[in-house]
Amino acid sequence: MPDVNGQWPALVSLLKGDRFGCLDSIIVYCTRREETSRISALLRTCLQGVILKENKNINSNSQAEYNPIGQKKKDLARKKIRKPLKWQAESYHAGLSSSERRRVQNNFMCGELRLVVATVAFGMGLDKSDVRGIIHYNMPKSFESYVQEIGRAGRDGEPAHCHLFLNPGGEDLHELRRHIHSDTVDYFTVKKLVQKVFPPCKCKQLHQKQLALEQDMEDKEMMEMMDMCDQENLSAPTQQDVEHTDSPEPSTAQESSHPEAAELPLQDCKDEGKEMQLEEQRVKHEEAEGSIKPKDGESQEADWLKDQEEESIDWPKERVCHTHERAIPMEATVEALDVTEEGVETLLCYLELHPQRFVELLHPTLSVCKIGCYSGPKQLQKLTKICPPIAVVLARRRMAGERVETCDQLEFDVVEVADTMGWQLSLVKRGLRQLQWSSVGGRSGVSVELSSISFYFRSFGDLSDEEMDRVCQFLYNRVQNQEKTQIYQLTSSFKAFKR
Ligand SMILES: [Zn+2]
Repeated sequence: MPDVNGQWPALVSLLKGDRFGCLDSIIVYCTRREETSRISALLRTCLQGVILKENKNINSNSQAEYNPIGQKKKDLARKKIRKPLKWQAESYHAGLSSSERRRVQNNFMCGELRLVVATVAFGMGLDKSDVRGIIHYNMPKSFESYVQEIGRAGRDGEPAHCHLFLNPGGEDLHELRRHIHSDTVDYFTVKKLVQKVFPPCKCKQLHQKQLALEQDMEDKEMMEMMDMCDQENLSAPTQQDVEHTDSPEPSTAQESSHPEAAELPLQDCKDEGKEMQLEEQRVKHEEAEGSIKPKDGESQEADWLKDQEEESIDWPKERVCHTHERAIPMEATVEALDVTEEGVETLLCYLELHPQRFVELLHPTLSVCKIGCYSGPKQLQKLTKICPPIAVVLARRRMAGERVETCDQLEFDVVEVADTMGWQLSLVKRGLRQLQWSSVGGRSGVSVELSSISFYFRSFGDLSDEEMDRVCQFLYNRVQNQEKTQIYQLTSSFKAFKR
């Protein structure tokens, strides 16, 4: 490990030395979360009682300043805002509670904390112009992230220092490579997700029933007409004609009735905008362990466009299903697939970016609703009269053979119920919440609890098995391309740093 190579003592002497010893605002970047905690604890011990050296650099600078009086005022003002150093070092990573993270960030902002040992989660949106030093304890994962990270020092124009530890054996490189590999998703996992995102719906069956019904009507009319003919001409070949109309051709009938191709160029523009949004979203989640999407020049963009083109071939112009609202609980999904929340989100974004727009992402929402009736099953039965969604849930349970007369509580997927009813989710939720209050005021004795934060999106339910396989293959290709680019970036930046 790095410490064996003398990296740890080197860090301590660096922080005590001439260059960094006088700096009062430093970020130390590490790859792993556990390491940030360990190193900050060690630094607290090692730097205990060490007094900051005088910063000659800044002094000489301010003397050379144009307007010495103005500068003095500025210095004075700065001293007033700045509180004296209280803490030497703290760690920061996305695994800490939000209050903990806020505390560390605030202390660093107001100058009470000298060192933050952090993953790259720290610094995004950090508005501190007088960070004086950036130390990379581990190798950054790409050139872009390196530039971004050192760019956080010296924004006020005063001198700042940075230092990069690079173990020549390439231990960091292996570590980062391992991260990339463990972030990648295998085909089986992709398939599991695709099955969760596109559960089959009944649109196709309903559509076929509708067509059959229409056909029946036509047949009936035809029969009536032929009956009339029969009366006029007794020798008409009735049987033959009926047989002919008995075999409907739903697909051709449908295609010719709804020609739709003029929207394509519009769609392309939309996708581009989406891509930029996606990029923004991803930066928010970015951490050493997280997923970073490389944006590497024109060649990649060209690849992307080529893929898009290939992907858009051979899909039906119009689907029978017009998408459904669906929710998949985050925690359960992360557990079942063993992919991080950000990882799942990235995959869903890929599906949204596909020319077919397989998925339309909506804001995460609570999808599980629990209803409890303190006054027993009768109370629940009464609710069916004032709350249609509950009537729907109970009716379905009854049809499934459940004895709903004895139920005094219910748990259901509120997104799915709202979608089946064709109601707006927010309206359904509001209606459910209102059940807690009686019409004459006060509590009604009904408890309503919404829980389970979920990925929330619209998706199709009429994909055939072959189409599902194609979607899986598309996602899997994306994942593999991303892995390749990350490895490439990593290796090339390692070579560059080594020079
Ligand atoms: Zn459908």
